[in-house]
Amino acid sequence: MIGKMLGNRYEILEEIGQGGMGIVYKARCHLLNRLVAIKILRPEFSHDEEFIKRFKYESQSAASLSHPNIVSIYDVGNEGDIYYIVMEYVNGKTLKQIIKESNGPLPLDRAMSITSQVLRALDNAHRHNIIHRDIKPHNILLTEDGIAKVTDFGIARAATDYTLTYNKNIIGTAQYFSPEQARGGIVDEKSDIYSLGIVMYEMLTGQVPFEGDSPISVALKHIEENLIPPSRLNHNIPKGIEEIIMKATEKDPNRRYSSANEMLTDINKFASDPDNFRIRKIEEDAPTKIIPPINYDKTRMTERTDVKKGHNRIIPIIITTIIILIIMGGIAGATLYFINRQTVAEVEVPSIVGMNIEEAERLLKQQGLSIEVIGEDYSSEPAGVILSQDPESPIKVKQNYKVKVRISKGIELTKVPLVENMSVDEAVSTLEDAGLKPNIIPTYDDIIPENQVISQNPAANEEIESGSQVNLYVSKGKEKITMINIVGKTLDDAEKLLAENGIALGNITEQENAGPENIVLSQSINPGDQVEKGKTVDLVISKKPTTPVLKNITVPLPDIPGEMKVVVIKRDALGETTVYSGMNTYQDSPLNILNVPMKGHVVIEVYINDDNKPYSRYEDNI
Ligand code: ATP
Ligand code: MG
Repeated sequence: MIGKMLGNRYEILEEIGQGGMGIVYKARCHLLNRLVAIKILRPEFSHDEEFIKRFKYESQSAASLSHPNIVSIYDVGNEGDIYYIVMEYVNGKTLKQIIKESNGPLPLDRAMSITSQVLRALDNAHRHNIIHRDIKPHNILLTEDGIAKVTDFGIARAATDYTLTYNKNIIGTAQYFSPEQARGGIVDEKSDIYSLGIVMYEMLTGQVPFEGDSPISVALKHIEENLIPPSRLNHNIPKGIEEIIMKATEKDPNRRYSSANEMLTDINKFASDPDNFRIRKIEEDAPTKIIPPINYDKTRMTERTDVKKGHNRIIPIIITTIIILIIMGGIAGATLYFINRQTVAEVEVPSIVGMNIEEAERLLKQQGLSIEVIGEDYSSEPAGVILSQDPESPIKVKQNYKVKVRISKGIELTKVPLVENMSVDEAVSTLEDAGLKPNIIPTYDDIIPENQVISQNPAANEEIESGSQVNLYVSKGKEKITMINIVGKTLDDAEKLLAENGIALGNITEQENAGPENIVLSQSINPGDQVEKGKTVDLVISKKPTTPVLKNITVPLPDIPGEMKVVVIKRDALGETTVYSGMNTYQDSPLNILNVPMKGHVVIEVYINDDNKPYSRYEDNI
């Protein structure tokens, strides 16, 4: 698969990982020149039409989501039997890897930052009526800057039937299944909240609450068994956080948080005042209706009762406190205010990079902090998203501290200037001055003179990303062709050849010639010369000679002693002939050769004693 080009666009570079549905590859999108992640479905899925239909439907609806904490889906397609989904490439690790590597609980801050980000992703998706259905650490990707991105939104829906039966990885998925999912009941937003509760549990204890040999046994435990309170496994888990986890993982969906936003509010409340944070339980005083646990050992049962007793004791304490406060009235209030003024609480700055400014402001406010925008930069993040913060998380600061941030003003756009009809040099400098990259494409043109811009793409006044490329089609004049050789061809052949090569036939003059008729004797443009397309060439062609004229030739001989051999040769339209050959002496000079037939351009040469060079030469036109 490596090196393969999918959809004429995505070049598969390397394998990133494998999951239940397929293999994930890193790839390059050649159209937009960016890295992407491509999940290619396993072949067993691609043969099931019903599955493919659901897969396309679910991934296309997930593609409508756009949020900094959600891995964007760019494209869904297939090439023959290869079905694939193209996603934003996240350079980082899965939360599962991070948990494994940490070999125990993650720091509380880190776990809470991840939870909050996943909740924001869920909140956004739920508002668009998309339920994830497979929230698990494998589907939470973390960048090096600590940004969490949730992937595989909704896709699990297409796979549910398969995963339970066919997929070996299903144990991994079942560990995060809500009881209603395990039971095959109605799945809604609250199922995602349950799964995230299990992820929180794992982040803070280093282990999942339910394990087993088969997906079914794990699923059953979610239905039937109670969670060991996470603080039993990690004493550092604050009570408030434990309560949040327990509420998120209630077996009965009605007792869980009703929305991601509600859970996020509790987390923020806890963060701003951990000591006084109390969870609002649904049906606080109604008896807990938990499905009786199967094989649940007695010790844990007692622990659970203890915890509940503990909760019940809180209410009288709160009531008593309120009464005391009322009695103490203003005095108590004033004292508390004074104490507060003296010791301004310190808070940890949360991580807000990647959030949009409104969200960040809300979060900081809840922690008694405020925000100050110290600058805006162009970036590929949407406008309003925080690019950097000072101080960074988790530095502690006094309450009321202003956290300074730089935010994105989105991608810098530039209006394309009009450069058509400019000279190429002028066009290039105009584009460069506007912060754009000219790309010259030389093009033949019959009308626009050489080195002038014929057209541009994108067109003038379009708004495009700064620094991007503008194609300039620059005239290189009329198309040039190389003149062919047609000397020696018949006129018919010459005409055909010229037409094939885009050269027009000009004047034809005839010349009498001893050879065959209608043969090209010369051409007005030399072979090999570059000429504009459509240029005309004049030809001289051969013509049979008409009746020759009889003429006498007088040949003077050289003054040498004794006999000499004299040869007289004539070349003309009639061809080449020896008109005289004989032995003579100087006394015979001049020799008279009578009645020699001549035609056209005549050359006469006299050779003495077989010399290479003629002794004399005459030319004439008859
Ligand atoms: P499942 O099939 O149940 O979702 P999974 O989540 O473990 O199981 P995949 O979703 O196929 O498996 O992902 C396989 C691996 O590919 C992941 O563990 C992760 O390392 C990597 N991966 C997935 N999506 C991306 C992405 N968008 N960017 C970078 N890496 C990714
Ligand atoms: Mg996945």
